[in-house]
Amino acid sequence: MPEGPFMFYLKEKVQPFVGEKVISTTGASAKVDINRLVGQPILDFKTHGKEFFICFPDFSIRIHLMLFGYYRINEQKPDGKLQLGMQFEKGELNFYACATSLIEEPLDQVVDWTTDIMNPQWDPEKALAKMLKKPKMLACDVLLDQDIFSGVGNKLKDEILFETRVHPESLIGKIPDQKRIELVAVAQSKSFDHLEWERKNRPEGEMKIHYQKVCPRDHNSIDLKTLGKTKRTAYFCEVCQVLYD
Ligand SMILES: [Zn+2]
Repeated sequence: MPEGPFMFYLKEKVQPFVGEKVISTTGASAKVDINRLVGQPILDFKTHGKEFFICFPDFSIRIHLMLFGYYRINEQKPDGKLQLGMQFEKGELNFYACATSLIEEPLDQVVDWTTDIMNPQWDPEKALAKMLKKPKMLACDVLLDQDIFSGVGNKLKDEILFETRVHPESLIGKIPDQKRIELVAVAQSKSFDHLEWERKNRPEGEMKIHYQKVCPRDHNSIDLKTLGKTKRTAYFCEVCQVLYD
């Protein structure tokens, strides 16, 4: 599933379409009347965690790529399940196999930007306070909680825990205060590292623990387990990641 940095990079790539009018639309979106977009100018693109927004004067379109969604800029995938395609005077933007919806309200009323780890309004204090309310939650689950860390996905989760040397099964309430603060800070810095990897087109090549077989610190074999309430695969090192329980 695409994580926050992947969507953030998409936003960067589609900037040439800001201010452009939609000339025509195609696609099978069940929830969006795609004809409504025709003749409308795109005011902005925004992201919130794993969600992508296309902002028009009177409404916005929300796109979630879910597990298998993808996009094409200025090209098409002929056999793809096109949900929303927009054609402009110069170029086109196509979204496939994704969930789409239309939002009538101003985005600021329905989206809490302070939970988005890559947004300038990101509030680390708020994230810390929310974590403290879940002392029995495992570190691997809390990092995937989109109400706290919008945008962090399974790969980033593993990288954040490795960087901070926290075992994924650590209980939030048992992690020392300083370490919890570090977790929140690294969650943000790793997300921006990941954005750099996306820009270089090697998001997986730079990962230190996810998809690896050997720990780069101590050369211990990396453990691979399905953990937590979220039941997601975790890559971690039993030797250098401390279990707080
Ligand atoms: Zn290690």
